[in-house]
Amino acid sequence: MGYTCATSTLAQMLRSRYSTVCLPGAVLDDAVDELARDSRGALLFDFGGTLDADGVRWSLRFHGAYARLGGRLDAEAFEPIFRASDRQLEALDGVARLGLRAMMEAQAGILCRLLPDGTAIDAGAVAGAVHADSVRTIARNRSVLEGLRRSHRLAVVSNFTGNLAVCLDELELAHLFDVVTDSAVLGVSKPDRRAFRHTLAALDVPASRAWMIGDNPEADIRPALGLGMRAVWLAPAVRTAPPGCAPTARIASLAELPAVLAPLAGGAPLVSQCTG
Ligand SMILES: [Mg+2]
Repeated sequence: MGYTCATSTLAQMLRSRYSTVCLPGAVLDDAVDELARDSRGALLFDFGGTLDADGVRWSLRFHGAYARLGGRLDAEAFEPIFRASDRQLEALDGVARLGLRAMMEAQAGILCRLLPDGTAIDAGAVAGAVHADSVRTIARNRSVLEGLRRSHRLAVVSNFTGNLAVCLDELELAHLFDVVTDSAVLGVSKPDRRAFRHTLAALDVPASRAWMIGDNPEADIRPALGLGMRAVWLAPAVRTAPPGCAPTARIASLAELPAVLAPLAGGAPLVSQCTG
């Protein structure tokens, strides 16, 4: 906890508020940070494809690794098999204790048992490639999140398998988030609005002062806008937005998020632009 001299109105207010613990003419940095974080609202992040990739979902990333290792199925044929592996992973004994690397290894192992050419694929190599890509992206995003945390409350709300907190801890991200909502723990998955409402209530921030950042228009963007939040869609430039749903902003990398938030931070809440 550090001390800095400050002359702003905010600092004067804090000097008064914390007069019993501050030296005259000084304010606690942590107290300034906390008031700034309260004043700018909250940012809710999806995890998969949002914090660990630039808007590319896990199924496509696993397919890319599988194809590079000699897999023959195209992405369309791979997708339902990946979804089946999701369901088996959710039911896996002990999944709630797995970190990201161990979980990806478990999912790759399941996948290779389900894929028609899976016996010829090195499951460990698939998991290793996807995990390495996640770690690289998270390393870049960590500094972005650290900067955003100075002005906002941060949360993760993710459809996960009960081990999101374990994964965030393994990735050295856990300390950045005020609230972590794991669908398997809550018992409610996005796009169910209760997952968002639960997170907002835990943050004690109204929807009108919160943003959702995610890669899935149906699970992340549409329900957030419907609740009166603002929403940023993270997606590669080639992706087309689904009809009837217009995010507040669109980015191709989380590194673009601070620039999006800066001019809009104090603006009035936007009315949902989603229909249906
Ligand atoms: Mg996602």
